[in-house]
Amino acid sequence: MQKERVVIIGSGPAGLTAAIYTARALLNPLVIVGNQLGGQISITSEVENYPAFPEGTTGPELVELMKKHAEHFGARLEYDEVIAVDFTQGPPFTVRTHAKEIQADAIIVTAGASPRRLGVPGEDSLIGRGVSYCATCDGFFFRGKDVVVVGGGDSALEEGIFLTKFANQVQIIHRRDELRAGPTLQKRAMANPKIAFVWDTVVEEILGNGQVKEVVTRNVKSGETAVVPTDGVFVYVGHYPNSQFLVDQLAMDEHGYVITDELMRTSVPGVFAAGEIQDPIYRQIATSVGQGTAAAMQCERWLSEQE
Ligand code: NAP
Repeated sequence: MQKERVVIIGSGPAGLTAAIYTARALLNPLVIVGNQLGGQISITSEVENYPAFPEGTTGPELVELMKKHAEHFGARLEYDEVIAVDFTQGPPFTVRTHAKEIQADAIIVTAGASPRRLGVPGEDSLIGRGVSYCATCDGFFFRGKDVVVVGGGDSALEEGIFLTKFANQVQIIHRRDELRAGPTLQKRAMANPKIAFVWDTVVEEILGNGQVKEVVTRNVKSGETAVVPTDGVFVYVGHYPNSQFLVDQLAMDEHGYVITDELMRTSVPGVFAAGEIQDPIYRQIATSVGQGTAAAMQCERWLSEQE
């Protein structure tokens, strides 16, 4: 069986940062990339709050730079996905991917989170046919078209603003009359002539025969329903942690977030976690980078204590 010193599960900002630190500590880390190199930032169009980029940058650009940086110090990336783990015995701990089983003396879990679905009729069957969770990936297909964005958080506004580069009109449908997004994004979105807000409203169904044509909305205050013609539906209603493969292996909270202490230790000594898999609060690229750093430093310390 393949034997490793450190396996990092996931390749978002937390994972790639942990890779940089453990590689520089000569631990020869192996990063199991997961289903998307870079995780959620790979589908983030504009990044304006990551330090050292005063003009802003993009998610894909940051992913590329972080990957290059990790590989520069010798981190190895494997394009596979972890489907099961056995942390009940060990170290060494066992990690099973689609392709093989690997043993590792220490693990850093950085499997991140995924966009939540709305859970309404029509959503699943129209994914890729007008329903999207990624403006960066799909915005281009909506040139000159009308789209709706569902949600009132930072993601909904940031990606809604991005979509105005392509779309004719962007309607942001939010279930309350107050946004969750921060004031800077609110100001920018409100000032954008292509953006219209639909308040106190939920999407109840997405209609279309092979391609999105309309959404059925309901005003939660008046109960009034409407059928709104649209070409696309971009859903930004939060996230859930990618921790299904860790059930019964690591302690989690009631929402499935892995519980860590201030040293990024999980309930299993030798297994550390960082980034959105364990952080339901901050969920910023900068905080994930910080948590990845801390997890890598504690991992290194723990390994040297075992010798
Ligand atoms: P979020 O902050 O959890 O916001 C989710 C939004 O979706 C909320 O407005 C919520 O409404 C709405 N929502 C949830 N379930 C819904 C449903 N079933 N139907 C309709 N609407 C629903 O998620 P996010 O915007 O993806 O942001 C996640 C984290 O990343 C946050 O910490 C955010 O600050 C951060 N982030 C930061 C930036 C930035 O700083 N530039 C950019 C993107 C994300 P309610 O408001 O009523 O709960």
